[in-house]
Amino acid sequence: MANYQRILTAIDLSDEAIPVLQRAAAMARQHQAELHLLHVVEPLSLAYGGDIPMDFSGIQEELQQQAQDSLKKYADRYKIADNHRHLQMGRPEAQIHELCEELECDLIVVGSHGRKGLALLLGSTANAVLHGAKCDVLAVRVG
Ligand code: AMP
Repeated sequence: MANYQRILTAIDLSDEAIPVLQRAAAMARQHQAELHLLHVVEPLSLAYGGDIPMDFSGIQEELQQQAQDSLKKYADRYKIADNHRHLQMGRPEAQIHELCEELECDLIVVGSHGRKGLALLLGSTANAVLHGAKCDVLAVRVG
């Protein structure tokens, strides 16, 4: 079977991100594949926009900056090149699929569970990623 050429791993920057990234990095080494790292910042307006009439832009900027700093730490630790680090805004599953298609990745690596999905059999993001994926998906068992 052919090696994977380009792997996309998506992390939620929680403690569970470490085993996910570790596995993705090991797969990339084994397959001599390119490794891309993605984190998606979810807009506060998506979660609260309809309910609370307030301007989230300051808090959103702060969250974006924190995410950027945190993503840098993970990426530095695993020596992921600058142009392979992606910080996007939106719904995680939609952004994961979009970037995967844009980069023509042939494997997506996510955690089976993250911040949201601990109570579920398979985390909600992992489940959604699996459903719409046009390539292989590896759900690393965490939690
Ligand atoms: P969850 O749906 O929170 O259980 O998350 C399951 C997995 O989906 C995580 O381990 C990550 O691999 C991925 N994921 C969840 N949220 C994000 C996010 N905001 N950005 C990138 N990946 C995410």
